Amino acid sequence: MASRPVELALAALAAAALALAAGPAGAKLRVVATLPDVADMAQQVGGERVEVETIAQGSQDPHKVPVKPSFVTKLNRADALVVQGLGLEHAFLPALLEVAANPKILPTGPAYIDASVLIEPLEVPTSLNRAQGELHPLGNPHFNLDPVRAKLMAKAIAEGLARVDPAGASEYQAGLARFTALLDAKIAEWERLAAPLRGVKAVSYHQDLVYLAQRYGLEMVGTIETKPGVPATPSHLEELVDEMKRDHVQLVIREVAYEMPLAQTVAERTGARVATISSLAGGLPGTTGYVDSMQANLEALVRAAQGGGAS
Ligand SMILES: [Zn+2]
Repeated sequence: MASRPVELALAALAAAALALAAGPAGAKLRVVATLPDVADMAQQVGGERVEVETIAQGSQDPHKVPVKPSFVTKLNRADALVVQGLGLEHAFLPALLEVAANPKILPTGPAYIDASVLIEPLEVPTSLNRAQGELHPLGNPHFNLDPVRAKLMAKAIAEGLARVDPAGASEYQAGLARFTALLDAKIAEWERLAAPLRGVKAVSYHQDLVYLAQRYGLEMVGTIETKPGVPATPSHLEELVDEMKRDHVQLVIREVAYEMPLAQTVAERTGARVATISSLAGGLPGTTGYVDSMQANLEALVRAAQGGGAS
């Protein structure tokens, strides 16, 4: 059915009004986030004021994200950069920032938003020796897997966005309040869902579950990696298997970025079950944001702890 001229004119006016509401050309704050968790939080907090692009994908190992030229273009045009921080992005971010020619998003710049600033890190090394492949020199950077700490990440992001875009401060506050309320509801729900994990002994592939374990009472006994970023050696695996048998470890937690066969082998040799989770949002099939990813992780852990098959 053809529109009458008056309807066309109204539609044009409505479009113009929408464009004005969005502000001047290119009005949305161009936010680049290094990782999916902080990307989702920036979107939740920033709402309509921001346009968020993400560098790494949830199924990737954040310590090994390959650098691509397209990332440089994104960073060059960014109004703000959001990082999880504590060195988690060391594999790709410093090199990208060096060539991105955008001083305001450098760590010293005003538009560098670090989601770790309100976090008290666990496992801070006593010496700064990075020899032997130590990937966590500033403490453990995988605090996103604790939803209570996630509230602090969102708060740091809201404060950072308000610093970069003061005119939007009240909107960012409102976005933060909405996201925090959602998390609070989920945190209460997850406390009940994850109750069966309390006291369950587990090993993980990488040393990335310390915050999650602390929140839900998992007892982490060791890792398949010899140390963060250092692959398993035969002697390390023998020791791990012996320890797991001695301690009656029930779960092998395999983060989706790491290979399944080795986790499976360790589980078979010890009678443990494998649970596949993702250390980043969106890493498991069917998940995209922070909340559904946490939900999927906890469900996978509970399923395996209660005797369900590998997931
Ligand atoms: Zn790590």
